[in-house]
Amino acid sequence: MTENKLPLRASLAASVSRTAAALSRATGRGDGSVIGGRLGMMIDPDLLAHLAAGRRIALVSGTNGKTTTTRFTAAAVGVLGEVATNSFGANMPTGHTSALARAGATPYAVLEVDEHYLAQVLRATTPLVVALLNLSRDQLDRAKEVAMMAQLWRVALADHPDVHVVANADDPMVVYAAAAHAAAGAGRVTWFSAGQRWREDAHVCPACGAHIERDEADEDAWRCATGDLVRPEPQWTVDESGVIDPDGVRHEVKLQLPGKVNVGNAATALAVAHRFGVSPADAAPRLAEVASVAGRYAQVDRDGRNIRLLLAKNPASWLEAFDMAEEQPTLLSINARDPDGFDTSWLFDVDFAPLRGRQVLITGDRAYDLAVRLEVNDVPFTHVKSFDEAVAAVPPGRLEVIANYTAFQDIRAELDRVV
Ligand SMILES: [Zn+2]
Repeated sequence: MTENKLPLRASLAASVSRTAAALSRATGRGDGSVIGGRLGMMIDPDLLAHLAAGRRIALVSGTNGKTTTTRFTAAAVGVLGEVATNSFGANMPTGHTSALARAGATPYAVLEVDEHYLAQVLRATTPLVVALLNLSRDQLDRAKEVAMMAQLWRVALADHPDVHVVANADDPMVVYAAAAHAAAGAGRVTWFSAGQRWREDAHVCPACGAHIERDEADEDAWRCATGDLVRPEPQWTVDESGVIDPDGVRHEVKLQLPGKVNVGNAATALAVAHRFGVSPADAAPRLAEVASVAGRYAQVDRDGRNIRLLLAKNPASWLEAFDMAEEQPTLLSINARDPDGFDTSWLFDVDFAPLRGRQVLITGDRAYDLAVRLEVNDVPFTHVKSFDEAVAAVPPGRLEVIANYTAFQDIRAELDRVV
């Protein structure tokens, strides 16, 4: 809707939200999305709903890959016109409010949604499409909580029969969340296959508690032992560098972001954009424009080294980072400060064997926890005290850096100081 059609209170609230966000940016207090959104919602508690009205909206949620998939989806839907999006990962309702207020009257919006807030944002925004990527443990969450989240999603979707769901057929938790929606009406769910590397949180069927069986011959296939939950046939699939659409047409995706994980994220974006009427042939080339994702991937040249930073925030995303990193010297950095979680025992849930055969360096507050883990996994490594020392220790060429939250931020800050 255009801004001047907003109710008076909403219009005022949107304006305050924008002003506060701009002030916050101008005074160097971050990008201002949270404070702006919070102030706007104090004046008009329904501000998000008012700002969403009249727009065609896609929501993107899941434990991993939602920031990147949101960027890809916004680029793909951008074929049609201007798209509002929360590009700084401010993925709670205050961030959504701020993103829409800042964007003004765009006909489209693509919003990344924290998985805990999906029900609330569904209610407020009445989206056209919801993309459900994956569910796995984040920091200290355990498999039980993952199944509870799947149940919450399932209940949330039951209240929105008109929403189209684009969901990952490879993740039993996501399938459980979307299955009732799919069963309640034909054509309500589009299934994609983007692979599932991390399976430790999906051994048990969320519907009945029986064991999830995997197929030796077909590594993506899975079914509950009782047969009540079975992998749906996906309409969108991927290969190493292409997305295959429901008509069987293959679209090469030339991405600047690495790894097959991102080909999967691209498939999701094309499937969502397709529901908006965008053909995958038109959308695919636009995905190449996404070069970096703030706080997730970054690439910097320094001292003859091409340094690539990958964020790995939980066990599933460590496996994804191993998929993205090339067989080149690799620095691992782990802290255990508040945003990271204090417990590093999850390190033992991740198989570090893919790093064997390359030069491995370790650093960070909890480098010694990493050292123990690598010893057990038979991966030789060198400990370095600083990022500078790591750069000096590798030959000119690529240096892959895989780090958790605050370790990533530390290195990012160090690179910004010098460059
Ligand atoms: Zn079952």
